[in-house]
Amino acid sequence: MKVVIIGGGFAGMHMAKELVKQQNMEVHLVDKNNYNFFPPLLYQVSTAFIESYNISYPFRKMFQNKKNFTFHMGSLLSVDPDQHYIITTHERIDYDQLVLSMGCETNYFGMDAIEQAALPMKSIHDAINLRNHLLLMLEQASRLPESDITPYTQIVIAGGGPTGVEIAGMLAEMQREIIPKDYAKKVCEHIQIYLVDMESTLLRTMSEKAGQEAYAVLKKMGIQIKLNTAVKNYENNRVYLSDGQVIESHTLIWASGVKAMQVTGLPQSAFAKNGRILVNEYNKVLDVEDIYCLGINA
Ligand SMILES: Cc1cc2nc3c(=O)[nH]c(=O)nc-3n(C[C@H](O)[C@H](O)[C@H](O)COP(=O)(O)OP(=O)(O)OC[C@H]3O[C@@H](n4cnc5c(N)ncnc54)[C@H](O)[C@@H]3O)c2cc1C
Repeated sequence: MKVVIIGGGFAGMHMAKELVKQQNMEVHLVDKNNYNFFPPLLYQVSTAFIESYNISYPFRKMFQNKKNFTFHMGSLLSVDPDQHYIITTHERIDYDQLVLSMGCETNYFGMDAIEQAALPMKSIHDAINLRNHLLLMLEQASRLPESDITPYTQIVIAGGGPTGVEIAGMLAEMQREIIPKDYAKKVCEHIQIYLVDMESTLLRTMSEKAGQEAYAVLKKMGIQIKLNTAVKNYENNRVYLSDGQVIESHTLIWASGVKAMQVTGLPQSAFAKNGRILVNEYNKVLDVEDIYCLGINA
């Protein structure tokens, strides 16, 4: 039986590892990258505490000796549930059973200006991009007179969920432990990290206690926390907040939300209102045959 798995993240990779143990299975893994990575340590990459190779591993190496495994690098473009094939950016692949596990992507809630200029934190590429950007800002601040430094050293994080809270903590560590060793006092003194969330607590999806503790710890680390406040726009290196404040900053980190990956070709009845794919108790996608969905895409 030929099983095609789209997306080799937490869900897809574990599925592939289990299926290749069965010799009657022909397992094909499709991913837009040729490596699996560990998202919980992206913060450490983005703040230069660890290198990206510490949290990523090539699929081809992972399944090197498995004769019933094939890797295809490419992005899913569409599914044909009737004819049992998918189209990727590079090829057509036929399947007997299809597993969709593409995770989710950053949600900018339709704010184009923010999407174009803000820095997301979802992938290794995002983490390296953020790290390079942060270091570049510090270098630029080093060259400027003190009166012009602020936009380069102020950082705004939009979103006080787990991603926003963790990146705020890592940036505060970076400010305390690393930057003073390498950069002049005038740069260090102007660093200011803002954490902005429209809810009344941090970590809203967790317990009240977790939110309160995160608040207390980050506050102690020097983070400026602004609750009940939304980031409304980001233009010309100015972050516009719903309470009227404008923060001059070259660095807006967008940790405000995610949305399910879209799949062209599935019937509309297979999607929930929030874009997630609807499945039954066996993770089979509703209203199509031989297609399953795993992970946060479902
Ligand atoms: C910064 C960060 C920190 C996190 N920390 C934690 C934590 O501490 N604890 C925790 O439990 N969870 C954490 N999470 C959440 C966790 O990473 C996700 O819940 C988990 O990765 C979801 O698994 P998944 O397999 O559904 O999707 P993912 O792991 O996201 O995998 C999706 C895969 O699909 C591939 N893909 C996407 N689109 C396509 C396409 N069109 N074509 C082909 N391939 C595609 C991607 O390259 C990826 O390999 C964190 C997430 C982030 C971003």
